[in-house]
Amino acid sequence: MAVPKSKITRSKRGMRRAHDALVAGNPNECPNCGELKRPHHVCGACGHYADREVVASADLVDLDEDAA
Ligand SMILES: [Zn+2]
Repeated sequence: MAVPKSKITRSKRGMRRAHDALVAGNPNECPNCGELKRPHHVCGACGHYADREVVASADLVDLDEDAA
């Protein structure tokens, strides 16, 4: 098993971790509803992708159509 030859100092550890920060995403505006969405992903607000609806939104689906 490889064993470190010497202790990593607080300074060296900090220098390594200087590049570990998470970077914020790059959101796009949905062309349908204007909500911010992830690029190349279906809009979470309206279910549209590239100007067409691919996921029906919950308020448009009639869940009671088979009831009664
Ligand atoms: Zn949308």
